[in-house]
Amino acid sequence: MGKASKDKRDIYYRKAKEEGWRARSAFKLMQIDQEFNIFHGVKRAVDLCAAPGSWSQVLSRNLYLPAKLTSDGKDGGLPLIVAIDLQPMAPIEGVIQVQGDITNARTAEVVIRHFDGCKADLVVCDGAPDVTGLHDMDEFVQSQLILAALTIVTHVLKVGGKFVAKIFRGKDTSLLYCQLKLFFSQVTFAKPKSSRNSSIEAFAVCENYSPPEGFKEKDLYHLLEKVGTPSGADDLDCRSGWLEGPNKVYIPFLACGDLSGYDSDRSYPLPSTEGGTYQSLDPVQPPIAPPYKTALEMKKASSHGAGADTGKSSLDP
Ligand code: SAM
Repeated sequence: MGKASKDKRDIYYRKAKEEGWRARSAFKLMQIDQEFNIFHGVKRAVDLCAAPGSWSQVLSRNLYLPAKLTSDGKDGGLPLIVAIDLQPMAPIEGVIQVQGDITNARTAEVVIRHFDGCKADLVVCDGAPDVTGLHDMDEFVQSQLILAALTIVTHVLKVGGKFVAKIFRGKDTSLLYCQLKLFFSQVTFAKPKSSRNSSIEAFAVCENYSPPEGFKEKDLYHLLEKVGTPSGADDLDCRSGWLEGPNKVYIPFLACGDLSGYDSDRSYPLPSTEGGTYQSLDPVQPPIAPPYKTALEMKKASSHGAGADTGKSSLDP
């Protein structure tokens, strides 16, 4: 798809470039905030799976930059934002970047060290594995990423804090909801207007972190297993009838963002410009070391550099 055509078919892709966001997913976090006010009072935030960095930009613009403007140039007391990803990210003002794997136990230690013993008010995770297109498989791998994020949450989030995580809706959604409800008094699954209806993605918005009494971080998986394990990782017989009948759960599901605003599944006409020719903007910040870089270089080399294009840009997430 050409850039202008993509601008037409994906209004959030175009708006992201116009407003200086590295990825269209910035709108998802902003729309979640419009509904849930997640940034209110936040002094310390963690952005898990942050590259190319549009959620970190949203955190910086909403937390760090306004505080910096009113702090007379003094650094003390400014909000602290730590962003982690497997991939390196270009710098963002007010964001400490850590290159690492959130499934690695040491990652939580690195975050804690940056907070100097204090805990975070907000943890967000937009993590996604490379999608295979096999829904069961993708949902399972995604749930493992959320559990890794939850492990970090149990180490770094303060009691009363908030956690937002991308989920893939599927047959284990109720299980995930029950697992999250062990730790948060309020859990809502939200679908921002900028997230396409055709996508199985949604976001778990978890409020008021309140782990069970006597909870120890090392017991996390043991506790989660008492609720259940994702299908495919367990003997299916154990699960038959699970969460049915009196145990059936109803998950609060909420659309968020301006519902009369832009529809991510619609095409919009391109704005008219002087001279009548529309000029598509370049991505705000192309990834500095994308995982597909080697493939791109190999393709370029084999076609002698003649217009090789993966169609992938930093605005896709
Ligand atoms: N929120 C980001 C933004 O607004 O720019 C987009 C995130 S992108 C959809 C998903 C990210 O998850 C990728 O950058 C990927 O490298 C990261 N990721 C996947 N598995 C990870 C892991 N185990 N540890 C750290 N990052 C991971």
